[in-house]
Amino acid sequence: MKRFIALGAAMGLAALIIGAAVAAARPDWLPAAIRSHLPLVAKLPETPPEEAGLYCKEHGVPEKFCTLCHEELNKTLKLCDEHGNIPEDICTQCHPDLEKKYNIGMCPKGHGLPKEFCFKCGKANSASATLPDDGWCVTHGKPEALCLECKSDPKSHDASGGGVKVCRQPLPTVKLGSAKLASQVGLQTAEVVEESHAHKLNANAETAYDANRYAEITPRVTGFLKEVRADLGKAVKQGDVLAVVDSADVSGVKAQYLTAQAAQELARATYNRIKMLSQSGAVPAKTELESLTALNQAKASMREAEQKLKNYGFDEPQLDRIIKENDTNSSLAIVAPLDGTVVVRHAVRGEPVQSTTPIFSIADTSRMWLWIDVYESDISVVKPDQKVTFSVSGNDFPASTGTLNWVGTEVNQQTRTTRVRAELSNPEGKLRANQFGQAEIQIGEEHKAVIVPKVAVQRKDGVDVVFLPQEEGGVYRPQRVVAKPTSRGEVLEVTWGLKPGQRVVTKGAFLLKTEIMKGAIGAGCCE
Ligand SMILES: [Zn+2]
Ligand SMILES: [Zn+2]
Ligand SMILES: [Zn+2]
Ligand SMILES: [Zn+2]
Ligand SMILES: [Zn+2]
Ligand SMILES: [Zn+2]
Repeated sequence: MKRFIALGAAMGLAALIIGAAVAAARPDWLPAAIRSHLPLVAKLPETPPEEAGLYCKEHGVPEKFCTLCHEELNKTLKLCDEHGNIPEDICTQCHPDLEKKYNIGMCPKGHGLPKEFCFKCGKANSASATLPDDGWCVTHGKPEALCLECKSDPKSHDASGGGVKVCRQPLPTVKLGSAKLASQVGLQTAEVVEESHAHKLNANAETAYDANRYAEITPRVTGFLKEVRADLGKAVKQGDVLAVVDSADVSGVKAQYLTAQAAQELARATYNRIKMLSQSGAVPAKTELESLTALNQAKASMREAEQKLKNYGFDEPQLDRIIKENDTNSSLAIVAPLDGTVVVRHAVRGEPVQSTTPIFSIADTSRMWLWIDVYESDISVVKPDQKVTFSVSGNDFPASTGTLNWVGTEVNQQTRTTRVRAELSNPEGKLRANQFGQAEIQIGEEHKAVIVPKVAVQRKDGVDVVFLPQEEGGVYRPQRVVAKPTSRGEVLEVTWGLKPGQRVVTKGAFLLKTEIMKGAIGAGCCE
C-alpha cells in the first residue's frame, strides 16, 4: 500500500503544487480517524484468503499481522524470538502451513520466511528498521554515540533483541514526486566545508584610563601657582616639573626643619660634654640623663619637620641641600609621578591653590582599560587571559586588541550584566577614554570546524536537521545534527552529524522540513 501526501508549497515568489511521498510513512502518525479507515482503502489482493481478513500487498502478509505497517502490533502479538521476532502468526519457519493459508509472499532467497520479515536478509521486525538510522537518540535528545544514559543502560532501549533501538526513531526520507521537481521548486545544495575558527562573544564596552597608569596631581600645600610649565597633551617623564607653587607653608616647614636641626646639634654637643664630665664624677648622673632626654626631644622635632618636607615631595638629597644652603625658599616644585601625557589641566598661573586642589591629571595612554558588560547568561565562558578586540562605534579604525585581566564578582541589578576588564594596547594613542563600542571576546581556542550555511539547518521538535540529497534524484535523507552559532551570521558550525565533503540542501530545506512535519501530522490523503 502506498500513500501519497499532497502538499502545497510556496517557494520564492512562485507557488507550486508538488507531490511528495513520505517513504515508509508510519500509520501511527495518522490521527485515529484516518487510521481506522485505512483497511477500507487498501487494495485487495487477487486471491484473498477468506479467514485472514485484509491483506497487506506491500509486505505480503495479512494486514492484521503486518508489524511493518502497524508497529504497535509488536506489543500485542506473540513474537517468535527464534526467527527474528516476527509475529508468530506469520512465522513460516515454525508453521510452514501458513504460507498457503495466508498467501504469504516468501523470501526469494529461499530462507523460508516472509520476504519482508526475513531476518536472514537483514529485514527487521519494526517499521523503523526500514528507515535510515541517523544515529540520533530521541529519548535523550543527543547523538546516540555521545548518549551516556543509553550507554549506561543499553538494555533499556533495545526493543526486543532484534537490534532495533527504540530510542532512535528515524525520520522518514522525503521523496519528491519526481527528480525534476527538485529543480522546479528551486532546491539547491551546497558542500559541507571545514574551516578554522574561534568562537567569539560580543558585548558593549567602554574605554577608560588605566587606573594603574593615571595620576591626579594636587599641590599638597596651600599657596599660589608661581609657574605653570606643563600644558594639555604634553608628554612628561617621571620627575619632570609641572608647576611651581609659592607657599608660606613650605618656607615655614623649612625654617622649622633648620631650627630643629640646629637644636639637635646643640643637644648632641651638650650631651657628649656632660657624659664625659659624668664619667669623671664632675656632674651627677641625673644631669646626664636630663641632657640625654633633651637630645631625644630635639631628634623627635627634627624627624617631625623632616617628615613634613618629605610629604611635600622633598627627598633625602634635597633635605641635605636645604641644610647646606640654609634654604627657606617658599617655592615647591610639583613633579610628574609617572611617565605619561597631561590629560587634564586646571592650573592657571598666579591662582591661589589649596593643598587638595587638582591642578593636573597625567595618564599613560599607551595602554587603556576596557570595561565590558557581559550578560549574566554568557559570563560563565568568560575568563581572564582571553583575547579581546574592541571597535569604537561609528569609526572604522582597525580594532584594538588586548587581554582580559579581571572578571567582575557581581551582576548589576539593573542591567543584569557583569563587568569585566581588559587591557588594550594603544601605542598610537588612537583610543580615548570613555569611548563606547563593541568588544569581541574570544572564548576558547581556534579549532577546525565543519561549516554549513544557516539555511541548510532546520529545526524540528527542538532538534536541528539537515537534508542530504541521495543518489536517487529527488530523494532527501534527513540527518539530525548538533549545530552551534559562529561569529559569522550566515553559517553554523556542525559539531556532530556531518563530515566535510557531504552535500546538504540549502535553499528549500525548509520545504523539505514541512514535508516530514506534514507526514507527522497526517495532513495527507491516502491512495
Ligand atoms: Zn504492511
Ligand atoms: Zn518462528
Ligand atoms: Zn531471506
Ligand atoms: Zn539515549
Ligand atoms: Zn539509545
Ligand atoms: Zn567552532
